[in-house]
Amino acid sequence: MPVPLSTATTRWRCTLCGNLTRFDVTRSSRVVEYVHLDLAGEPTVEEREVLSETVESVRCRWCNAADQVELVDRPAPGAEPGQV
Ligand SMILES: [Zn+2]
Repeated sequence: MPVPLSTATTRWRCTLCGNLTRFDVTRSSRVVEYVHLDLAGEPTVEEREVLSETVESVRCRWCNAADQVELVDRPAPGAEPGQV
């Protein structure tokens, strides 16, 4: 089952337990990295350009369900819980 991708106005929600915030995302990506090695030969990635990226699976951290996510609307700006 393909995983629906969240957007600027939607977010993931686990359909089984309602979790909105914690997921393990398995992602495959093709990237170009600018690797800068110091004089000791220790590499540091200074830039990373993502050529393509695919979300393969999303697992809920709360109930461990795999790919049981749906898209729900994000809260409107200024409507965070606790704000009046
Ligand atoms: Zn869940």
